[in-house]
Amino acid sequence: MMAQARKRYMTKRGTMSLDRKAIGDDFKKDIAALCATHGVSGFEDETIGLIKNMIRDHVDEMDVDVMKNLIAFKKGNGKAKVMIVAHTDEIGLIVKRIDSKGFLWFEVLGGVRAQALFGKHVVVKTALGKLDGLVNYVKPGRPDFMEQIPDLQDFFIDVGAKSREEAEEMGVEVGNPISIDYPVHFLGKDGSRVAGKALDNRACVFQLVEVLKLLKNEQNKPDIYAVFSSQEEVGCRGAKTAAYNLKPDIAISLDIAIANDLSDVADRKIITALDKGPVIKIMDRSKTSSVGVISTPSVVDGMKKVAREAGIPYQLEVYTAGTTDSATVHLEKGGIASGAILLPTRYVHSYELASVHDLVAGIELLYFYIKALS
Ligand SMILES: [Zn+2]
Repeated sequence: MMAQARKRYMTKRGTMSLDRKAIGDDFKKDIAALCATHGVSGFEDETIGLIKNMIRDHVDEMDVDVMKNLIAFKKGNGKAKVMIVAHTDEIGLIVKRIDSKGFLWFEVLGGVRAQALFGKHVVVKTALGKLDGLVNYVKPGRPDFMEQIPDLQDFFIDVGAKSREEAEEMGVEVGNPISIDYPVHFLGKDGSRVAGKALDNRACVFQLVEVLKLLKNEQNKPDIYAVFSSQEEVGCRGAKTAAYNLKPDIAISLDIAIANDLSDVADRKIITALDKGPVIKIMDRSKTSSVGVISTPSVVDGMKKVAREAGIPYQLEVYTAGTTDSATVHLEKGGIASGAILLPTRYVHSYELASVHDLVAGIELLYFYIKALS
């Protein structure tokens, strides 16, 4: 049994695993650039511009649709059509008012909470270029004196302008997208923990790019549509229209899972943990929108089988306070078989932290799963 599996999953390197070190090195080389692009929901252009350059030599065709989905096609054996989705957008803010003193007031795009905003560096994208700014609250400076978290509406952005006119001269106008910015750092004794802005979902964008590279010279694979989707953080919108247009046989979403393996969290409350492998989604639901998914059992079983045969550790997720692109994809065109491979991530939607080991294992799981579909 094992020998047979070994043969079936034999890679060019002649083992059941990929070159984990090479993938980890690629990640360390590329992730800072991916995270440094500013692409809040609806404004993904800069991020997809970078991804185009990363995948250009590894796909047969690519195009950006009206929703700002970047869709790349890689021809396979024509026996099945597989869509792999990783959203490119990040949560953020959008300018809604400039006051007479030159402060910017904003609405949020996606799951931004007030607690994540105190004293943060932000980048405002204007027609004249990017502006640095600070976000804060009317009574900052003494959080220990603060009896309750203020409303999002009470936060504002200071870009250094002394008046509305000066802010406008700097290029600010209503509708400018704003990113909450954090640099990428590698933490820990072996540097295997990555911290950064929008690891949700740039880490998974990297996974999809890497799998396209690995599949480049494989003849025996299904036809692959890699969808770098838009507007996931505001309701999984881009992936919905892409799935409608592509009508794949199977759709796999790549996204993050909440890792809450922290001090004082009881075992029974742990959703996922770092360094225990990629997460195979079983079900979810977004409490804010009633949108959710129950993964197709045959897809889940296929992923579990591949993981066992290739010796990849994995975690299973049942979670009801968030969702991913599968939620809208699986309901298109009379139903699309769907599953998701997730990266365990701590501190989601603030300064996020994930494990490079989990990231690489997630790439292996996706790669071997696609191969098994051949
Ligand atoms: Zn995400």
